[in-house]
Amino acid sequence: MNIKGRLHSYETCGTVDGPGIRFVVFMQGCPLKCKYCHNPDTWDINKAKYERSVEEVLYEIKKYKNFIYPKGGVTITGGEPLVQLEFVKELLKECKKEGLHTAIDTSGYIFNDKVKEVLKYVDLVLLDIKCMDEKEYLDLTSVKLDNTLKFAKYLSEINKKIWIRHVLVPGITDRDNYLHKLGEFCQNLKTVDLVEILPFHKMGEYKWKELGMEYKLYKVDSPTFERVENSKNIMKEYGLNVR
Ligand code: SF4
Repeated sequence: MNIKGRLHSYETCGTVDGPGIRFVVFMQGCPLKCKYCHNPDTWDINKAKYERSVEEVLYEIKKYKNFIYPKGGVTITGGEPLVQLEFVKELLKECKKEGLHTAIDTSGYIFNDKVKEVLKYVDLVLLDIKCMDEKEYLDLTSVKLDNTLKFAKYLSEINKKIWIRHVLVPGITDRDNYLHKLGEFCQNLKTVDLVEILPFHKMGEYKWKELGMEYKLYKVDSPTFERVENSKNIMKEYGLNVR
């Protein structure tokens, strides 16, 4: 398989993108343009820092196998990793041959039969549901919400474990009615293991400036402790495991 992946970077000992210690592969390319994105430098697939074969990435991963095995594993994120789904599928397949736990971190925006093939080699999906309101979602991301919801329902149907990720942005996603909609939706999925509330932060703002792009959320602060707790309590009302 000669396919080359366009990569942004690696993180060798990640601890937040799935269980245990993770080798994290950041893929280049993302069709969403989230207003709060802290990695806008991953958007343009033509600006990849590296082009690597599956074998080359696997070689890097195997150097860390003693650290990540058996409690951790490999997480492929981005950008949107499913933009390069053929490469991601082959890499995941090789990771499974090594006995490694695999996760993808995705917006669920790309959902088709080829994605279903990729999921065969994935143990856990970190699914980023950014907002349950269709209009707000479109305004926040520039794309429609539909596929993400279909993706989530499909994961439930095929018994694939899900961690839902949700960025809490004051004045945008941090509204009780949206949070209740999210809790209700997740409650109806069979395989949601965890809901992660990720408080909005502006650590990526400098990248927008470096890229000469307007960062529209410069006036928005991080959510307060109380609002973060409120969102977690709403998820608990729906019987969800939350952190
Ligand atoms: S999906 Fe992720 S990488 Fe893509 S724009 Fe949104 S936050 Fe950034």
